[in-house]
Amino acid sequence: MIVTGGTIRTMDPAAPRAEAVGVRDGVIAAVGTLAAVSAAVGGPVHDIGGDTLLPGFVDPHHHLYLVASDVHTRALDVALRDLGALLDRISALRGTGSGWLRLHGVRPLQLTEGRLPTAAELDAVCPDRPLHVMSISYHESTVNSAGLAALGIGAGTPDPPGGVIERDRRGRPTGVLVEQASFAAESATRRATDDPDGWVRRAVEHSHELARHGVTRIGDMAVPPAGATRYATAAPDLAVVAHRWHVGTAEIGDPAVPALAADGHPRAPLGGFKILADGGERCDLCLDRRQLWRSTASLPAAVARHGRRALALARRGGTPARRADGRWHNGTRVLDADGLRRAVHASVAAGLSPAVHAVGNGAVADLLDATRGVDEVLRVEHAMVCDAALARRIGDAGLQVVAQPSFLHDLGDELTVLPLPDPLRLVPLRTLRAAGVHVALSTDYPAGTMSPLVGIGAAVTRRTRSGQVVHADEALTVEEAVAAWTRDAAAVLRSDAGILRVGAPADLVALGADPWTADPDHIASIEVTGTWSAGGRTFTAPTRAVRPPCT
Ligand SMILES: [Zn+2]
Repeated sequence: MIVTGGTIRTMDPAAPRAEAVGVRDGVIAAVGTLAAVSAAVGGPVHDIGGDTLLPGFVDPHHHLYLVASDVHTRALDVALRDLGALLDRISALRGTGSGWLRLHGVRPLQLTEGRLPTAAELDAVCPDRPLHVMSISYHESTVNSAGLAALGIGAGTPDPPGGVIERDRRGRPTGVLVEQASFAAESATRRATDDPDGWVRRAVEHSHELARHGVTRIGDMAVPPAGATRYATAAPDLAVVAHRWHVGTAEIGDPAVPALAADGHPRAPLGGFKILADGGERCDLCLDRRQLWRSTASLPAAVARHGRRALALARRGGTPARRADGRWHNGTRVLDADGLRRAVHASVAAGLSPAVHAVGNGAVADLLDATRGVDEVLRVEHAMVCDAALARRIGDAGLQVVAQPSFLHDLGDELTVLPLPDPLRLVPLRTLRAAGVHVALSTDYPAGTMSPLVGIGAAVTRRTRSGQVVHADEALTVEEAVAAWTRDAAAVLRSDAGILRVGAPADLVALGADPWTADPDHIASIEVTGTWSAGGRTFTAPTRAVRPPCT
């Protein structure tokens, strides 16, 4: 097959533009002028009709396993004003299925109350079956009274390491589970509702949804050990290649490295091991004395402007406490510095490349210490709060950062309610690149928006949903953002995809407009018109399907 007839951007710095791409046996066999490619490769010619052709998007941090585990992923991700509206929505869904009901997608900070509902509040709309309501990030969730009973959580249940069972004044669980307590419940209710055939069906469906967004390859960043077999069943039918990053046996965040076969189906290869250093929204934020003072001083103005939500946000991370480094930390640590070092070394010893979730600057700093002497290129997931000094240390250590600019779009309005004290930056893409860090971008779907074009738009414009700009000087160019979602993203998956050059997999995406020349504010809404994975068509836009495929 020869693809031609539009703007072809190869993402190959040595030859950024081409007139045609030739594909043979799922691999790119020629790139260059139409005459040269035609001479090298036979087969039908596909005219992209003036569209822009790029390497297929690579989303190195995605959660296909979790998405395929549920029928209600993002069922609660609708514009909800307050807890009353959320409870109405839950009530409407309570009749689906039997046994445990798992619902996902609440954005607590977007509710007026700034919190999840309690067991008592859930009982009012769903008293008769165990219910697990998960936030969009999975880092916090809430269960009703039947759910607390089914999970065996009572007043005497201790908090798990790295997690909190929220309690009322009398010490009784409120139903709200935070960080490792939430992940333990997620694992238990996932096992209780397990449906292997349904998983395979939904995984294939979701892979086609990804193809619709131009994605050809993902890193699945939280696959339980048993997911290897399930992936082997689904792999031949997947529209994307899914690199499996496994989690521990018990739940997400369990640092026990599972025994895994080194090989796998070529469409679901083994990637590595995922380690959690800190929480999500309750990340390890580390402030010096002046930053702590400034942060505290800014609270009254935030409360005056944003009311209860500002207080809820300020309370989330807990009271800052001074740690051994002489700085004040809040948020949750899943593993302390020592536990982190042991987990990283155990993962490397087991032959699994570690990817470490570290959102806050405190967790990233400890990770740098933990990786000393480790002869392996590590992935840092998120590194969402960082200053230039820490970025330089990441660059010097040679760690790769997988960041999520779509969080600026999705959550930017909430995350800026309490401004970060200088010189800390939120999603510090420019600061990281300037420090020589290899930065790949990703969605973290379903925690973030699925479309890479939304993320590319956010990396370039730094705009939140309401249109405000967060740290304008952290913006990337279109070229940098697209590279971070193709070439640079493939590199963190140890894949030679993400670039149109001879020998690379023929993973392609055609776009209805060229992101380089589009209005930056319109990049997010550029239409994906076609997607190919290993040379096979995985998506054709309905409006383009009527055109003759070959000329
Ligand atoms: Zn994630």
